[in-house]
Amino acid sequence: MSFDAPTFRRTVGQFATGVTVITIEAEGTVHAMTANSFTSLSLDPPLVLFCVGKNTKMGQLVQRARGFSVNILHAGQQDLSSYFAGAWRQEAAPPFQFARGDGTARLEGCAAALECSMYAVYEGGDHWIVVGRVETVHRTDDRCRPLVFFDGRYVSVDEALQDAAPRRPLVEGG
Ligand SMILES: Cc1cc2nc3c(=O)[nH]c(=O)nc-3n(C[C@H](O)[C@H](O)[C@H](O)COP(=O)(O)OP(=O)(O)OC[C@H]3O[C@@H](n4cnc5c(N)ncnc54)[C@H](O)[C@@H]3O)c2cc1C
Repeated sequence: MSFDAPTFRRTVGQFATGVTVITIEAEGTVHAMTANSFTSLSLDPPLVLFCVGKNTKMGQLVQRARGFSVNILHAGQQDLSSYFAGAWRQEAAPPFQFARGDGTARLEGCAAALECSMYAVYEGGDHWIVVGRVETVHRTDDRCRPLVFFDGRYVSVDEALQDAAPRRPLVEGG
């Protein structure tokens, strides 16, 4: 191997992502964690995945949970991202509320949320690859500005949105 761990982290950090908070319920309590490893996986059936460190609390809970929610953060929710990443240094937590749906609790006020049932958990080095089947989707305004993580920090996509062409389907008939 011709590189060290910091180099690896800085290199993959060049891939800009959105930011989610994963919520999970186990033994009657909700646990939440910031994650940017989220991706959609399959349309039929509708599957999504995220990766979680085996040593995290979330990494232990995924083994016994029946489902999870993916809460996609908007640009105004950076505080929540820091808080659920365990990086919040103020005494009082930023305001948030969990909403009760049919499945796992989700974080209120996000750009979008997906409630998932547990589909599979795969081995992935020091992480688990957690695959969920999407059961319910929640969406807000399409023009909501996303929270973006790039190069180890939060960045804005305001300029990109201002220049954006009117929306049209990516696939004819889509
Ligand atoms: C942008 C970004 C992306 C990341 N992506 C990933 C990723 O994809 N995969 C990964 O494994 N790690 C990721 N991390 C790191 C991860 O978020 C942290 O390591 C996190 O602290 C691990 O969470 P934990 O489950 O061990 O829980 P903890 O560290 O115990 O919890 C995180 C924080 O959330 C609070 N909290 C949790 N549930 C509740 C609740 N019900 N009520 C009130 N407070 C609550 C806790 O008090 C704590 O402050 C990311 C971090 C950042 C900043």
